[in-house]
Amino acid sequence: VVMASENEAAVAAVPSDSPTIFDKIINKEIPSKVVYEDDKVLAFRDIDPQAPTHILIIPKVKDGLTGLSKAEERHCEILGRLLYTAKLVAKQEGLEDGFRIVINDGPNGGQSVFHIHVHLLGGRQMNWPPG
Ligand code: C5P
Repeated sequence: VVMASENEAAVAAVPSDSPTIFDKIINKEIPSKVVYEDDKVLAFRDIDPQAPTHILIIPKVKDGLTGLSKAEERHCEILGRLLYTAKLVAKQEGLEDGFRIVINDGPNGGQSVFHIHVHLLGGRQMNWPPG
């Protein structure tokens, strides 16, 4: 199906716990520009960047965490690690003037991939309210 926009993809996306394209990125079945990796998390450049720096930070093991709205107590550690990794990567990317963290959730949030991910955006002035 050809989607006119990321937004349409998000609205059409059906939430599920099935493997996503991010599993293939984690497994290196499809290439990505990795900027940070450890045993728990992977950070790679978004394929469709919305800012000079646009990086996605994801857990290597999804463990039911399709999105933030599915978070359970057991996910607290990985949730913290995702944010901490965003800070490390922001520093690595030289974003000392600031950056924005985004977690889209569900259709209204514009989520299109059901494997939780933190967007790290920087390198330009961000606007408020977001679109
Ligand atoms: O928050 P949302 O679910 O919309 O974010 C998914 C993000 O994953 C998008 O920014 C999209 O560009 C990115 N993406 C990617 N590589 C893929 C598929 C999606 O970087 N192969």
